Amino acid sequence: MESKKPNIIFIMADAVRARNLGCYGYHRNTSPNIDSLAKKGVLFENVFSSNNVSNKQFLSILGGKRVIAEGPLINYVSKKEIQGFFETGGVLFPEMLKKQGYKTYFLKDIYGWQKKGFDYYFKCASKEDKSNVKWRLINFSKKFPIFYKTLKYSFHNLVSKKLANKIRERKESEKVTREAIEIIKKSKKNPFFMWLYYGDTHLPYNVPSKFNNKFIANKKSKNLFKEISNKGMDKRIVDFLKVSFSRGDTIEDAIAQYDCAIAYVDSLVKRVVNALEKKNILENTIIFIFADHGESHAEHNIYFNHYGPYGTVYQVPLIIFGKGIPKNKRIKSFIQHEDLAPTIFNILNINHSPTLFDGGSLIPLMNGEKEKIRDHAFMVENSSIRKKIIRTKKYSYMESASKEDATCKVCNKIHQGVIELYDLENDPGENINIAKKNKKALIEMKLKLNKTIKDLKNLNEKRRINQVLSKI
Ligand SMILES: [Zn+2]
Ligand SMILES: [Zn+2]
Repeated sequence: MESKKPNIIFIMADAVRARNLGCYGYHRNTSPNIDSLAKKGVLFENVFSSNNVSNKQFLSILGGKRVIAEGPLINYVSKKEIQGFFETGGVLFPEMLKKQGYKTYFLKDIYGWQKKGFDYYFKCASKEDKSNVKWRLINFSKKFPIFYKTLKYSFHNLVSKKLANKIRERKESEKVTREAIEIIKKSKKNPFFMWLYYGDTHLPYNVPSKFNNKFIANKKSKNLFKEISNKGMDKRIVDFLKVSFSRGDTIEDAIAQYDCAIAYVDSLVKRVVNALEKKNILENTIIFIFADHGESHAEHNIYFNHYGPYGTVYQVPLIIFGKGIPKNKRIKSFIQHEDLAPTIFNILNINHSPTLFDGGSLIPLMNGEKEKIRDHAFMVENSSIRKKIIRTKKYSYMESASKEDATCKVCNKIHQGVIELYDLENDPGENINIAKKNKKALIEMKLKLNKTIKDLKNLNEKRRINQVLSKI
């Protein structure tokens, strides 16, 4: 038996919804390479991010922790949350891989606490980028907040344009791929863990010219900007959409551009796999392909962004293939990002305290020893709306504590209700709120949500007490 520790690679594409990949049933051939890898491995059909923004998901992925984001609406994990995580004994899994002799790489810009456990991280943003208008304005806004507030509305259009162009010029995904291939070529005895972060599937959906016309809008649809003109949306977001969509004005044009970005990233995946093959280490590697969260494409009046409590934003792909992973399997159990760290511990036989990690290993599911880890997914939106969400096979339920909490800060409206309930079997798109019609299901789901939150809070408290006791 080969006992060599496998290399582990995470390939994460930002804001890619499961439903837009061929292997998840999409009508366009967006992901031929990922689809063929899915056939060689295991595809998970029901994977849900527990939060809707990248930074919060990082704690779920790296720390195996479900973030119950509360407090002010922000796009990142709060300082309090990070502090709480480390004070209660939280560990980022790459730290544990390093102890096993792994070299650890993160390929994209990474900041603060997230760096912990990585030997190397790749800087995509050059020095010259730091001097650009965005950075200058951020610094200025920190120094003179009130003055900035009055000025920013006249600046935002200019900033949006510059920012979108800068993102395009950076060619991040290309750089990440080249760097990954270099690392693979140079790899020696030590096993490695490498996380490739592809950001070009995120607005402004950056597509090089070779892929730009791969898909074109083949049906007529509403003009995106006419559609959003009277929705009361934050002008800066509208401006960013305007500079992002260069090829046409309709919703279908924008979707086509997003699909082209997926096809582009799919081609990069192939280059990485080819490099592993060439180096003769593909056989000793396990690859995880996934996204941090999804995206809403005009569904629920949310336009090419990832806020809101709906499945479009939370349901993501997950494909695992490589050494020891069964072939051509599809698994239906509800999965969340917190399950990735325990899966890796399981693969490498690393002892870890299960009370420190919220998720469960996916290995027993892949081996057919177990059918499910949980019967639901739990999610929190605390970036633009305050909602807690629970989803089972049959229903999705989402609640805000008040009208104010349910009001979206992007458009100043309540999207589909303060309390929402959807019958997923008859209404998978979550369009008809049956909260008032089906009281029985509503109570059942509400109790389930309450219990999930209570259990997680108890677990956190248990961790805190354990940590205090260990110091006495
Ligand atoms: Zn993201
Ligand atoms: Zn809104």
